[in-house]
Amino acid sequence: MPSAAGTSDLRHIPFALPDVGEDEITEVVESLRSGWLTTGPKTKRFEAQFAEFIGGGAEAIAVSSATAGLHLALEALGIAPGDEVIVPTFTFTATAEVVRYLGADPVFVDLDPSTLNMSPSAVARAITPRTRAVIPVHIAGLACDMAGLAAAAGSIPIVEDAAHALPCTHAGQLIGGLASAATVFSFYATKTVAVGEGGMVVTRDHRLAERCRRMRLHGIDRDAFDRYRSDRPAWFYEVVAPGYKYNMTDLAASLGIHQLRKVRAMQARRAEIGARYDRAFRDLPIELPPHSVAGDEHSWHLYIIRMRPDARVDRDAFITGMADRGVGTSVHFIPLHMHPYWRDAYALSDELFPNASAAYRTVVSLPIYSKMTDADVCRVIAAVVDILGGERGSA
Ligand SMILES: *Cc1c(COP(=O)(O)O)cnc(C)c1O
Repeated sequence: MPSAAGTSDLRHIPFALPDVGEDEITEVVESLRSGWLTTGPKTKRFEAQFAEFIGGGAEAIAVSSATAGLHLALEALGIAPGDEVIVPTFTFTATAEVVRYLGADPVFVDLDPSTLNMSPSAVARAITPRTRAVIPVHIAGLACDMAGLAAAAGSIPIVEDAAHALPCTHAGQLIGGLASAATVFSFYATKTVAVGEGGMVVTRDHRLAERCRRMRLHGIDRDAFDRYRSDRPAWFYEVVAPGYKYNMTDLAASLGIHQLRKVRAMQARRAEIGARYDRAFRDLPIELPPHSVAGDEHSWHLYIIRMRPDARVDRDAFITGMADRGVGTSVHFIPLHMHPYWRDAYALSDELFPNASAAYRTVVSLPIYSKMTDADVCRVIAAVVDILGGERGSA
């Protein structure tokens, strides 16, 4: 479908781009010159600033990825073979794979079509005597119904996968500040705070925090930075558990310190882009993304539209059309029950997850990031309207 908007001399608009400025670059260079490449003073500073941002006496433990953080949180909760952990099927594979790292079994639940988030009633139905944890995912940065999930979970600990949820609020409270056992953020290159690879575990449970700190660095009782600071001889350390290698580097923390400073400004820009999309797409045959309830904040990490049955093209053709017009898009998510490993290991089928299976066939994520210019936003809108508008769309 060639059109004016599809001319090839236009710059490609990628699906995602990090918003890295001169402050981040200067801080990284300073670390390089200082000689602290791995966990050191910048990581400590980033942790302190992150804990302060979340507030409420939270402790923050910097790690090498959200995947590592989820693994550490579950390990600290004592998840072991024979245990079950409830996860949404509509998520990235990391949410479930960490359960397998510990030899436990994920139990998958369907989504609520009005939010794309895990359904509390599905969680209630999935609980068995072996359930040891529930991992909600705040899809796109829209907070889950945490009160509903807490009611369903009862005394079973909740570990929030907050990879999309910075900053995002539920009932006026920042995600990370709720009563969950732990909340894990991602600083992967495409996320709302981007350091390349990194993550943060947030908890108000001091013992859980201590266990995560130890296990992120080989089960050693203090990390390298402390070792060179404390009064004990620098060469001395004790291994108290078979830990992992999940510490954050000071190079990543250098980025994180400055990304965190502008986290609200970047969110405001994404919210503005989302509002422009909402207005422009109102009359098109698509379902717009669900919003937070009044008073709550959506992080707008993702802007996920769903193609309606009366759209001129299906989801796959829409994605091809956008690519022809120089706009990158993505699909969040291919539900876990559709991936060969999870499907075969747990005998899963589409019929078990009718809402996630139906959503999968219609979802497309559009570019939404603070580096987008107004001209970029206009081009995305023009491309979408060009593909989906016309006689039916303009009615
Ligand atoms: C990105 C993502 C992760 C993994 O984050 P990493 O920091 O790359 O490990 C986990 N869960 C969800 C929902 C994600 O989108």
